[in-house]
Amino acid sequence: MSPMQEQQQPAPQQHEPNQQAQETQPNENRSGTSAKDLEISFRNHMTHTVGRPLEYSTTLDQYHALSAVVRDRLMDNWLDTIETYRDRDVRVVGYLSAEYLLGPHLENDLLNLDLTRQMTEALNELGLDLKTIACEEPEPGLGNGGLGRLAACFLDSLSTLNTPVVGYGLRYEFGIFRQEIQDGWQVEKSDKWLQFGNPWEIAASMSYQVGFFGHTETYTDDKGALRHKWIPGQCVKGIPYDTPIPGYQTKTVNRLRLWKSEAIDSFDLATFNTGDYTGAVRAKMESETISKVLYPPDEKIEGKRLRLMQQYFFTSCSLQDMVQLHLTFGKPLNEFDKKWTVQLNDTHPSIGIAELMRLLMDEHAMPWDEAWRVTQNTFGYTNHTLLPEALERWPLEMFGNLLPRHLEIIDEINEHFLDAMRLKFPNDDARMRRMSIIGEDGERSVQMAKLAVVGSKAINGVAELHTNLLEASTLKDFYEAFPERFSNKTNGVTPRRWLMLSNPDLTALIDETIGTRWHKDLYGLTALEHFATDTGFLQRWRKTQEGAKARLGAFIKRTMSIDINPESMFDAQVKRLHEYKRQHLNALHILSLYCAIKNGTAKNLTPRTFLFGGKAAPSYTMAKLIIKLICTVGDLVNNDPQTRDLLKVIFVPNYSVSVGQRIYPAADLSEQISTAGLEASGTGCMKFMMNGAVAIGTLDGANIEIREEAGEDNFFLFGLTAPQIADLTRTGYSPNTYYDKSPALKEVIDGLRDGRFSNGDRDLFAPLVKELTTTDRYFVMADFDAYAAAQAEAGSAYGDTVRWGRMSLLNTARSGKFSSDRTIREYCKDIWKVPTN
Ligand SMILES: *Cc1c(COP(=O)(O)O)cnc(C)c1O
Repeated sequence: MSPMQEQQQPAPQQHEPNQQAQETQPNENRSGTSAKDLEISFRNHMTHTVGRPLEYSTTLDQYHALSAVVRDRLMDNWLDTIETYRDRDVRVVGYLSAEYLLGPHLENDLLNLDLTRQMTEALNELGLDLKTIACEEPEPGLGNGGLGRLAACFLDSLSTLNTPVVGYGLRYEFGIFRQEIQDGWQVEKSDKWLQFGNPWEIAASMSYQVGFFGHTETYTDDKGALRHKWIPGQCVKGIPYDTPIPGYQTKTVNRLRLWKSEAIDSFDLATFNTGDYTGAVRAKMESETISKVLYPPDEKIEGKRLRLMQQYFFTSCSLQDMVQLHLTFGKPLNEFDKKWTVQLNDTHPSIGIAELMRLLMDEHAMPWDEAWRVTQNTFGYTNHTLLPEALERWPLEMFGNLLPRHLEIIDEINEHFLDAMRLKFPNDDARMRRMSIIGEDGERSVQMAKLAVVGSKAINGVAELHTNLLEASTLKDFYEAFPERFSNKTNGVTPRRWLMLSNPDLTALIDETIGTRWHKDLYGLTALEHFATDTGFLQRWRKTQEGAKARLGAFIKRTMSIDINPESMFDAQVKRLHEYKRQHLNALHILSLYCAIKNGTAKNLTPRTFLFGGKAAPSYTMAKLIIKLICTVGDLVNNDPQTRDLLKVIFVPNYSVSVGQRIYPAADLSEQISTAGLEASGTGCMKFMMNGAVAIGTLDGANIEIREEAGEDNFFLFGLTAPQIADLTRTGYSPNTYYDKSPALKEVIDGLRDGRFSNGDRDLFAPLVKELTTTDRYFVMADFDAYAAAQAEAGSAYGDTVRWGRMSLLNTARSGKFSSDRTIREYCKDIWKVPTN
C-alpha cells in the first residue's frame, strides 16, 4: 500500500451510525448486507459506476446503481461456485437452449439473496422506492413462451438445489418483439433491451471460432490413421456473456453463458484499402447477423438457413467451451461423459450430437466407436411438441452446403444405426424408412428429432399424457427399439418468482400460517389443507386475493384507462396466441354471454372480467385475427350500458414475464382450454394453481395431473379427450353438426358472419368463420357447448364465496408437485445422475 493511501485510511470502522466516517470510507465493503452497507454501496455506485450525483439522478440511473450493488453481492459466491465444480469431482450439467425467458433480474436476485427487506430500507432512507426503480429494468425477452421460461425456471431450481450447471444459449441483440395494440390489431416493435447496457452480464475475454460452408478432406495422420477435416469457407467468432444465476438462500451461483457472434476481423483491411468501405463492413455485418434476432415461433421452419446457422453457432461454441474446460480440469476426453451431461431443450441444439462427434474425432483424433460411446452417453433430449409442422427438418442440400462435415457424420451415424435396427427388426423395410434420420419422402431432409433420439442416452416428454403420446405415436418406432431410454419429466415452475415474488401478500399469509419450509419444498404447502374448513381463514385468503386483484386493476387503469370491478370473477387466458390454445373458443363464449344478456335470457350472471394476453407470430394471420376478435368483443361489451357492469374484456398488451407476474396472482379462473392432445405440458396452468386460481380445462398436458392433485371437485373439466378427438378424426369430423345442434353457437357464428359484432363489417371475421365451419382443425365447435356449461358452473361456484375460497385454497395447498425443484430432482436422479440436496 502506498503512503498516500495509508494516510486516507480512517480509524477502524466502528459499527455505529457515523454518517461522515462512512461516506469518506475509501474501501467500500462490497459484500455487506445490512441496510446501512447497502446504502453506502448504492451511493458509491452512483458516483463511481453511474457517475452522477444522486440528487440529479434519473430512475434509470438509480436502477443501474442498484443493480451494481446487487451484482457485487453475487460475485464472491459466483467465483466460489466455479471453483467448487472444478475441485470437487462433480458432474456438470450443460443445459443447451435456444431460448431463455428470464424476466427481470433485480427483484428476483434480491429475493434469492434474502436482501429485499434491507434494500427496501436502504432506499427508503434515501427517499427512493424499490418497486419504482425495478420497473426501469428492461426484460430480457430471449424466448417466445413456455419453452424459454422453462429453461429459466430450471436454472433457478438447479442453483437452489446446489447442482452445477452452465446454461448455454444465444445472446440475441433483439429478443421477442414488443407488442402494441393499435385499433385492435397487433403491431410489432423491435425490442431494444440492450440499448442502455445490461448490468447483469459480464463479457469474458475469450472466444471460439465457428465455421460454415466450405468442403471436407481426408488425410492419413502420422500414426497411419485415416482422418477427416473440414475446411470451412467462412468463420465467425463467438464471445461469451455470462449472467450469474443465484439460488434461493444458498451460496450457489451458477452461470448462464450466452454467445454473441462477431466477425473474426472487424474490417477486412485488404478490401478497405481498395476503397471498398461497404464491402469491408459487409463481412462484419453478416457475421453479427447470427446473434441479431430471436426467431418468432411458428414461422415456417423449413428452409430458414439463418436459423440453422444460429443453432449451430451457439451449440458449437458451447461444446467447444465444455471440451476446453474439461481439458483445463486435466481430464482425458474419453471421460467427457463422466464430467459433463448435456441436455437438449428441444431439437434446436441437436446438431450438437454431430458437432461433439466432429470435435472428438477430427480435432482430437478419437476413433469412431469411442467417440460415439462418449457422445451418446453425454446427451439427453427433451421433446416439447407433437405438432408435425413444428418438428424440425432441414433440406439436405442446404444442410450439406452449410455444414458439409456434419452431413457426412450424420450419414454415418444413420448407417450404423440402421444396421443395428435391421438386426433387431429383420425384413422390415418400412420401419427402416420411418426410422431413417435422413427423410426420403418428398424433398430429402435431415430430421433433427430423430438425430436427437438416436444420439441420446435419455429421451423425455414434459407431461404424462405427452410422454404417452410420444411413445405411442410420434416416436413409436424408437420407443419399441429402446423403451428403457424413454421417461416422463412433468414440467414445473419456480415458486420463488411465481409465488413469493409475484404475490408477496399471499406469501406473507402462508408464511404466517404454516411457516416457510415450503419455499424450498413446495409439498410443504399441503399443511394449508387444515384450514380448508376454517371460514375465518378463508375470509383472509379471499381478502388477500382481492388485494392482488385491486393492484392489477390499478395497473390496467393506469396503462389502459379501463375501470374493472375487483369483485368480479377474474378469468384469465395468458399465453402465446395459437389456434390450438383456442383463445377464440373463449371469445366465442363471451359473445354468447353478450347475446344472452341482450336477449334477456341471462339469469343471475356472475360479473366477470376476462383478461387476455399473448403475442402472435408476426406471420400467423389467423392468430392476429383472433387478437382483433378479442379486442372487438372488448369494445362491444365494455361500452354497452346493458353489459358493461357484467362483462369486461381486457387484452393486456405485450404479455411477458413481468406482465405475467401481475396477472397470475390476480386470477380467479385459469383458462387451460387447448384441444386435447396438443398442449405438451403447459406451465402457465401451474403458476395459476400456486396462486390459488381454479382451472377450467380440457384433459390435456399437465391439466390432467393438476386435476389429479387438486381433486376433481376443484377443477372445471370439459371437452373431448385426446382419444375421442382421434376417433372423430378417423370417422370424419363435421363442425356444422355442432352449429346445427347449438342455438347459442349458431347465434354467435351467424353474428360474426353478418357483421353484428363489427359494425356491419362482414369481411373482417370471414376467414375465421370459414375455418370454424369447414375444417375446424382444433375442434372449437365440438367443444363449445361443453365449455359454456363448465363456464356456467364456474360462475355459480364463484357466487358461493366459501366454496370458492375452499377450492382456491386447495389448489394452492396441492400445487407442490408443480415446483420445478421436483422436476429438476427427477432429471438429476434419472437422466443426469448428479446429486442434489
Ligand atoms: C409461463 C409463461 C408462458 C407459458 O404459458 P402456457 O400457458 O403454459 O402456454 C408463456 N409466456 C410467459 C411470459 C410465461 O411466463
